[in-house]
Amino acid sequence: MIPYGRQDISDADVEAVRAALLSDFITQGPAIAAFEAAISGYCGSTYGVAMSSATAALHVACMALDLGPGDWLWTSPITFVASANAALYCGAQVDFVDIDKTTYNMCLDALEAKLEAAERDGKLPKIVVPVHFAGQSCDMVRLARLRDTYGFRIIEDASHAIGGSYHNAHVGNCAHSDICVFSFHPVKIITTAEGGLATTNDPELAHRLFTLRTHGITRDASRMENGSEGPWYYEQLELGYNYRMTDIQAALGTSQFARLDSFIDARHERRKIYDQGLAHLPLTLPYQPDFQRSGLHLYPILLTDEAPVNRRQAFDALRAAGIGVNVHYIPVYRQPYYVRMGFDRASFPNAEDYYSRTISIPMYAQLTADDQNTVMSALTAILA
Ligand SMILES: *Cc1c(COP(=O)(O)O)cnc(C)c1O
Repeated sequence: MIPYGRQDISDADVEAVRAALLSDFITQGPAIAAFEAAISGYCGSTYGVAMSSATAALHVACMALDLGPGDWLWTSPITFVASANAALYCGAQVDFVDIDKTTYNMCLDALEAKLEAAERDGKLPKIVVPVHFAGQSCDMVRLARLRDTYGFRIIEDASHAIGGSYHNAHVGNCAHSDICVFSFHPVKIITTAEGGLATTNDPELAHRLFTLRTHGITRDASRMENGSEGPWYYEQLELGYNYRMTDIQAALGTSQFARLDSFIDARHERRKIYDQGLAHLPLTLPYQPDFQRSGLHLYPILLTDEAPVNRRQAFDALRAAGIGVNVHYIPVYRQPYYVRMGFDRASFPNAEDYYSRTISIPMYAQLTADDQNTVMSALTAILA
């Protein structure tokens, strides 16, 4: 089976992990800060805070922005459940904004209309989480203008978008957001097996993120309420978690990071082959504007009305041909846990339409020309 995504592990990665394992610190050592410096330096953010997962990073990002009971977080329904669950961990409520038909990101016209209505009802969101779907950045300038009007905070869920850029700057620079979160799960662009990282430019938010990932504890005397009682002393300032990344993972991450740009280039080479090879089929191919560069985590194709088969038939035929296609995503409001909160599919016509048509076909840096031809031939046989 050709997977839809997979990690690329080099000899250098194996050696980096081996060296970390044999070093003095396999967790809470120097590899963490080195990885954080590499990612934040690349992104152009002041701080980078490594975590055990993007889910953990989203959770403490919400906490750092003081999300709590009575507050609302809005996000896109076409995302992994973690983007929304982060709000529920904080006791806040979630709502969704329908997607844009072209980018599949949160529709900012829909967001603006929903904000106007929420202002009238006194239910404005405290946080909006744009998800850079498939690696394509949301229109952050326009989103930031809406933030300035309505006073919410922004956490970018950039789990798909490391290595991508927006207005000639790397995603993750937080020029238009408070915090940006990346995931290093093996299907993502670079991996630490499990892992995530939050970037920010705000020293107070960085302090909260650093302490919340380790029980709410600080060893910084200037932050202590009682003042230091000696070299052993630390203070727990609030209730945090153990969301730490290990040094073994961070060493893998730094080694992977050295190939980030080459991974993105390889994904774009494969994208161009699909763009050309699939153009004649009844498919909508992913939007690729020339003013920004996608991280290309995914290559979702949508069956048009002219397709001779439906999504289920195309999906089954591709799997039968040995192609590990997938669907990203089941709209979060369709999950039984969310249905019980009262969400109604009819509120999200674009997400429903997208979900009925979409299939993610294989996209990763090591995807071979042969495998790509297998995918394109199978699609041609099914759809032509
Ligand atoms: C993968 C993913 C997450 C969660 O990442 P983990 O590192 O597995 O916790 C969150 N949001 C989106 C959009 C994702 O794709």
